[in-house]
Amino acid sequence: MSKNLFKIAKQKKIKYFLISFVDLFGVLRSKLVPAQAISEMQKNGAGFAGFATWLDMTPADTDMFAIPDPDSLIQLPWNKEVGWLASDLWMGGKPVNASPRVILKNQIKQLAKKNLKMKSGVECEYFLISQDGSGIADARDIQSKPCYDQSALMRRYDLIKEICDSMIDMGWGPYQNDHEDANGQFEMNWDYDNCLTTADRHVFFKYMVKSLSEKHGLRATFMPKPFEKLTGNGCHAHVSLWNEKTNKFLDHGDRLGLSRLAYNFLGGIMNLAQPLSAFFNPTINSYRRINAPPTKSGASWSPSSISYSGNNRTHMIRIPDPGRFELRLMDGSTNPYLLQAGIIAAGLHGINNKSDPGEPLACNMYTDYKNYQNLKKLPNEIEDAIEELDQSKELRESFGENVIDSYVKLKNQEIDDFNKEERFDKKSSITDWEKNNTLDC
Ligand SMILES: [Mg+2]
Repeated sequence: MSKNLFKIAKQKKIKYFLISFVDLFGVLRSKLVPAQAISEMQKNGAGFAGFATWLDMTPADTDMFAIPDPDSLIQLPWNKEVGWLASDLWMGGKPVNASPRVILKNQIKQLAKKNLKMKSGVECEYFLISQDGSGIADARDIQSKPCYDQSALMRRYDLIKEICDSMIDMGWGPYQNDHEDANGQFEMNWDYDNCLTTADRHVFFKYMVKSLSEKHGLRATFMPKPFEKLTGNGCHAHVSLWNEKTNKFLDHGDRLGLSRLAYNFLGGIMNLAQPLSAFFNPTINSYRRINAPPTKSGASWSPSSISYSGNNRTHMIRIPDPGRFELRLMDGSTNPYLLQAGIIAAGLHGINNKSDPGEPLACNMYTDYKNYQNLKKLPNEIEDAIEELDQSKELRESFGENVIDSYVKLKNQEIDDFNKEERFDKKSSITDWEKNNTLDC
């Protein structure tokens, strides 16, 4: 018997619920439902017109219904009378296969057939910027190497503390907050968990950071590359596979502490990194971050070649500690559910095909890349990534033809829309279109 949201509302003094979902472009959409109406909504869902969102539907389609997952309930830390709920989309009595949370749940089911669960943590970098998005908010944050700058961090103490206190309150286990490598850029870390929980928290984290920044008179952006000369917003993920309480990636006998299963999983991600970029780097602006020249701080901290290493941040995959790896490809515009689903799908292909990632590289890839011309490169712009996805037999097999067709169709429409007004050129300034369409991603 699932939790009764009507009773929970009474106990916790919740007056309203946000029944929310994320569409294919990662936009968070909701209905605000009074607690007195929640029983019906919990059973049958809140109705939405799918065509009005980034899902491949028509205006003639019947309503789709967002059925909330009571386990995802979060009382807004800054307004406890509102309860936030992640939901799964249903239409005509069936789950909507192209809805990102359903896509992730389907991948989790595939992994469960092998008695495995994925645990993951995400590192969501963001900038605090001026209201109009033209610059960073703190005029004194101008060091050329601003990473871990204590003064710039502490000038934002009130906001950072409120976000971190909220995470403590919600039981996420936050453990550190810092100023990142770009002026105006921050990162906050909380404990890893089952990948569905992490994905729901990732969605909520972005909403919370944006909301609390507004409350403090600021604006937060997760845009991949809001400023040409500064390091962009990454969204690195730390990944391990578990069977009950055993980490199946851990092997102390290996020099990097990874099992054969982990290398196969990692090999699958390396094989499919090009098509995966369509999910992990989903915006036009994303391609200013990967394959980028060094920034003012000296390094872009983003990958360009498909390679892996031990504890070395110049590669797409880093193995910082035994029993897990860090995938550094994703940026702040990635869809939280497709991030996790993409990793599982590619990793499963790796397991099933016993993919061998080869030897790890120990070089500084930012300076030595010319010696590694044989390595596959990441896509140079969004068109290339979408084309790779369209052609990917493996991801079509994992996600289903319709899901990939819908995603490719919607992304190509967006690219056409951009090309009517602008031209993408990494050497020229970030366009107004990119800012208008990505600052609030
Ligand atoms: Mg970081």
